[in-house]
Amino acid sequence: MKTILNFIGGSFTPSLGGRWLDDIEPATGLAYARLPDSNAMDVDQAVASASAAFDGWSRTLASERSKLLARAAALIDERAEELARAESIDSGKPLALARVMDIPRASANFRFFASLAEQWGSQSYSQALGGAPAEAALHYTLRSPLGVVGLISPWNLPIYLLSWKIAPAIAAGNTCVCKPSEETPMTAFLLSEILRDAGIPPGVVNIVHGTGASAGAALVAHPKVKAISFTGGTSTGATISRVAAPMFKKLSLELGGKNPTLVFEDADLDVAVPQAVRAAFTNQGQVCLCGSRVYVSRGIEGEFTRRFVELVDRMVVGDPLEAGTDQGALVSRAHLEKVRACVKTALEEGGRVLNASAQNPLELPPRCAGGFFHRPVVLGGLGAASRTQQEEIFGPVVTITPFENEREALELANGVRYGLAASVWTRDLSRGHRMAEHLQAGLVWINCWLVRDLRVPFGGVKDSGVGREGGEDAMRFFTEPRSVCVKYAL
Ligand code: NDP
Repeated sequence: MKTILNFIGGSFTPSLGGRWLDDIEPATGLAYARLPDSNAMDVDQAVASASAAFDGWSRTLASERSKLLARAAALIDERAEELARAESIDSGKPLALARVMDIPRASANFRFFASLAEQWGSQSYSQALGGAPAEAALHYTLRSPLGVVGLISPWNLPIYLLSWKIAPAIAAGNTCVCKPSEETPMTAFLLSEILRDAGIPPGVVNIVHGTGASAGAALVAHPKVKAISFTGGTSTGATISRVAAPMFKKLSLELGGKNPTLVFEDADLDVAVPQAVRAAFTNQGQVCLCGSRVYVSRGIEGEFTRRFVELVDRMVVGDPLEAGTDQGALVSRAHLEKVRACVKTALEEGGRVLNASAQNPLELPPRCAGGFFHRPVVLGGLGAASRTQQEEIFGPVVTITPFENEREALELANGVRYGLAASVWTRDLSRGHRMAEHLQAGLVWINCWLVRDLRVPFGGVKDSGVGREGGEDAMRFFTEPRSVCVKYAL
């Protein structure tokens, strides 16, 4: 049994309350590590350590901060295989996916913000004021770090999303207290070692493990925490807002999604079909950007669905650590039960399962007998108002629905409370641009999915969130602007 510890003031410690939680391996259903069940006292200690480190870190030269972040990136690369295995074991995702997505992205996050820390600047405006003798004013903006910030991350992309928050927060000169998901704490623990070894000073990054209800809530409510950057479910985001907004904390909320994939009759199906399958099922459908509602032009519905289902039927559900596995385990038993209940609801609502493989028994190695596996499910025949088409499932379940024309495609795509991402498949780029203008989503991909550039603002509209992360938007979130005006004679 491995032991995960909190990382506070540069030291590894258990919870002050002495309580522990089990860390379950989703592929086996068995506890393989324990983590601190931290409480408000642990959070208070972490905030005190971050507060003590703030003065020194905020005065550290940007070039020095940049060097330390780049060193963290290099250490992630050095330990990439160990981190990928840890992420796969902890979350149930295929090792092959963690190798190409989660871990390279974590080091890219540190490398990107290492560079931005040095290159980033603020605006200045010169203003002629007239008069005799003539006068002018120079306005410029200083941007100062906020102080101690709270970073709360979910279980689906554990180190990927945590590093996406830590890197800009500390690049901008803040110190932080992080609360990773209790379901997937392992890579955050390994990241604490990496940050220590990179030479990030004690207290600059503190990581407190435990539940959202205890450690997470204490962090959000802590009066010395100036901002909360949160990625997770929409209802948790609403709970956090209720606590943080009256305290006038800065808030960035990256929340749930129910993203549409729109396939027009002129789409290149050789590309659109495999990419729509990838968009639906990457990480067992547990990516906030997954395209879980596919809308297809009526004229190609039959051909598209046949080819889509054919690919899904070939997907291998298996041990995440085995080469050749396309779909690993869902993150927890509770999540597996939720997905099963959603499929049951879909059938009660009149949905039809379109892929024969959904009914096949799972073929798993003995070590995975107690794991949280669920076959991919493709559903048809569901109305726009059905719960299945309206509510986020966050699992390997996708719906396919035909549309008649562009107007109906847009109505269907926009007809949910979420607005995180959308993808549009068409050879007509004018149509692609038209759709991008009218889709209610923070991100629109045309003829691609999940092509990310870290400079691009990232976030959702409607119930998918408030604020933007990524590139300069992240640096702006983690700093406070101060406008200065100097008047002078010409
Ligand atoms: P949750 O909202 O359940 O949890 C997210 C994090 O918040 C976890 O660390 C959790 O802790 C913590 N938390 C829970 N309750 C509180 C609270 N009251 N105060 C403070 N922190 C709390 O989301 P999931 O982990 O289940 O992640 C899945 C959700 O995340 C999906 O809805 C998905 O769409 C969304 N998501 C959004 C993304 C985006 O960029 N928009 C990206 C990735 C996921 P613990 O788990 O330990 O209880």
